[in-house]
Amino acid sequence: MLKDVFMALSKNQLLTSAAKKYGLKLGAQTVVAGTNVEDTIKSIRELNALGISATVDNLGEFVFERSEALKAKESILEVIEAIQANGVDAHISLKPTQLGLDIDYDFCYENLYEIVAAASKYDMHINLDMEDYGHLQPSFDLIDTLSKEFSNVGTVIQAYFYRAQDDIEKYKDMRLRIVKGAYKESVEHAYQTKQEIDANYIKLIEYHLLNGKFTSIATHDHNVINHVKKFVEDNQISNDKFEFQMLYGFRKDMQVDLAKEGYNFCTYVPFGDDWYGYFMRRLAERPQNLNLVVKQVFNKRTNTAIGVFAGAFALSQLVSKKKK
Ligand SMILES: Cc1cc2nc3c(=O)[nH]c(=O)nc-3n(C[C@H](O)[C@H](O)[C@H](O)COP(=O)(O)OP(=O)(O)OC[C@H]3O[C@@H](n4cnc5c(N)ncnc54)[C@H](O)[C@@H]3O)c2cc1C
Repeated sequence: MLKDVFMALSKNQLLTSAAKKYGLKLGAQTVVAGTNVEDTIKSIRELNALGISATVDNLGEFVFERSEALKAKESILEVIEAIQANGVDAHISLKPTQLGLDIDYDFCYENLYEIVAAASKYDMHINLDMEDYGHLQPSFDLIDTLSKEFSNVGTVIQAYFYRAQDDIEKYKDMRLRIVKGAYKESVEHAYQTKQEIDANYIKLIEYHLLNGKFTSIATHDHNVINHVKKFVEDNQISNDKFEFQMLYGFRKDMQVDLAKEGYNFCTYVPFGDDWYGYFMRRLAERPQNLNLVVKQVFNKRTNTAIGVFAGAFALSQLVSKKKK
């Protein structure tokens, strides 16, 4: 039930605006690298010093204004230039809805095209993050067109979707990130139980490791990571064929340990002021992440405005659910 509450919170426009206004609060600063490019480059340098590369996400999603999508595009172009100018080991992750997929498909494509073309000059990879089911096929359509011209694009396969096996076969020649899936999806399209999702996740990872180009295994699940370690050893898959990925701020010790063990490791580094939806999804995935919030809310009085606001909303959701 807590998961549903946080998923509902993640889409709340009022709280999203409040969060932008009040900056990095509610514990988000532990999982978001900063609000500007300089802070982010500094965080990437720190990761690079530990032998970890970065995939940088200029936070933002579900954009409905052209001006906002154009601003996001400019911001991503700025990050590409900053990565290149500073010589850090990093590439880009972005969300199609941030670049206007909900406004107009062609408008989104033009924005994306500009970004992919700019990055290709530096041989920099661009990953299209996958969002909810409603945006899945249009996102693959964008990939299909872009990949005809560029080789520096890749995307994500979400293991909870029934169609994931077909997609991974179709895109096997592409660098793919494989995840369990972060959005709330209906039984019509997606597995619902942890057992089913985990089983499909392992199946997809194994398939792409054996048949695909480069595999990014993006998970905080130590059972999956241990399984992969054994699988690559048994099948003599070399370390340059895959990497592990985790989100910034999560399981930091394990991130460093995996890099020290000699595995390629890449941290997903989100930055910017549009952190609210991202952060709420992290709470939905793992309510224990609430301890990040609790520490921050009680440490700094200024955080309480959003904290109380969010708490009141969460409670109202719980009450209305109980009534149903
Ligand atoms: C780099 C990256 C990129 C992603 N990109 C996308 C995307 O484009 N689209 C999308 O839909 N989703 C994306 N996700 C989110 C993903 O789909 C999952 O929702 C998310 O990673 C949670 O699943 P999990 O595999 O980490 O493990 P879970 O199933 O959440 O956890 C499994 C077990 O791992 C352990 N564990 C998990 N987290 C922690 C922790 N913080 N501390 C200690 N133990 C822990 C616990 O024992 C837990 O029971 C991404 C995730 C990552 C890491």
